[in-house]
Amino acid sequence: MSLHCLVANDMSGAIYPWQHQDWDRLQRLRERLPHAILFHGAQGIGKVAFAEQFAQSVLCDMPVNGGFACGSCASCGWFVQYGHPDYRRVRPEILDTDNIEDDSEPEEGARKKNASGKTPSKEIRIEQVRSLAGFMNVSTHRSGLRVVLLYPAETLNSASANALLKTLEEPPPGTLFMLVSHRPDRLLPTILSRCRKFSLSLPLAEDALNWLNDNEVSDARQWLALNGGAPLAAYSAAQDESASDRELFLGLLAKPDAVPVLSVAERLQKTPIPLLVAWQQRWLYDLFSLKLSGRVRYYPQQHARLKSVADRLSADRLQQALRDANNQRAIADHSLSPRLFIEDMLLAYVGLFD
Ligand SMILES: [Zn+2]
Repeated sequence: MSLHCLVANDMSGAIYPWQHQDWDRLQRLRERLPHAILFHGAQGIGKVAFAEQFAQSVLCDMPVNGGFACGSCASCGWFVQYGHPDYRRVRPEILDTDNIEDDSEPEEGARKKNASGKTPSKEIRIEQVRSLAGFMNVSTHRSGLRVVLLYPAETLNSASANALLKTLEEPPPGTLFMLVSHRPDRLLPTILSRCRKFSLSLPLAEDALNWLNDNEVSDARQWLALNGGAPLAAYSAAQDESASDRELFLGLLAKPDAVPVLSVAERLQKTPIPLLVAWQQRWLYDLFSLKLSGRVRYYPQQHARLKSVADRLSADRLQQALRDANNQRAIADHSLSPRLFIEDMLLAYVGLFD
C-alpha cells in the first residue's frame, strides 16, 4: 500500500453511498476504455456526479486503490475548478444559469436570462458540439486522455446530435466521451450503437432513506415513494415543496393571530405533520436562544421577525412552549385529522401571546 492510500483525502467519499457497487463494476472498463460510454438510469440518482468522478479519476495523475481520484494532484486541482485543459463539459446553457445540479431535467419556462439577454437554451446546441473540434485537435496535457462529458444527452437536438454522431463515427485518438441520460430511448439509435452502455442502479430503499435522513429530509419515506425511489429527486422535491409551505407557516408564527389559523391549517393539511411540528420546534428554539444568548440557529434569515416575537414572550413561557412542542412531536405521527392537529397546534401557539 502506498503512502498515498494511507492519507484519507481521496475522492472515494465523492460518489453517493449507493453507488459503490456500480463504481466497482465500472473499474473493469478501465483496462480498455471504450471511445464512448453512455451512463443511464433513473432520474435523480446521481448519474452526473458519478460520471464526473470517473472523469476525474481517469485524468488523475495518481489514482488510489479502488480507482478513485487522489484529490490532491495537479490534475485533480484543475478538475475540481473546472479548469482541466483536457476536460470539457457540454450541457444546455440553462444549467449554467440556473445552477441546477446533478441530472434534474431543465424545467419548463426559463427563469433567468443569460448575459446577452436571451433566454438560455434548454438544448445542447450544435455550436457547442462543433466547438469540441478545437479542443480535440490540440495535444493533451502530459499526452494523456481527454474527456468530454455531455449531459443530459436527450437534450441534443437533431442538428447537434448529428454533429456528435460524426465525431463518434471517427473518434479522435485518446478521447473518452461520456454521455449521461435518463431517457436513452430519445437518443439517435446510431449514437446509442456507438456507446458502451453502463446502467446505474436504483438505490436500495434503505440506503436512499439513510441518505435522506442524513440530509434532514422529514418524511423521507413518503418523498422517496413519490419520486420512484430516486433519492436526489426526492430531496429536491421535498425542498421545493416545503419552501412555500414553510414560508406560510412561519409567516403565522411571526404574526401570531387566531384569525388566519383556520385557513392556514386548511392550506397545510397535506404537509407532513412531523415536518410542521419540526418547523415550530425550531422556531421556538430560535426564540429561546435569541432571548438567552442573542443567537439564532435554525432560521438566521428570519432574525428580524424572531426578534420582534421574542420580545413579547418571557423565557419561562418559551420554555413551557418548547416542552409542549416536544410532546406534540411524540403524537404527531398518530394524528387522525391533520387539519385539526394543525389548528390546535397553531391556536396553542397564538395563545402564548394572550
Ligand atoms: Zn489526482
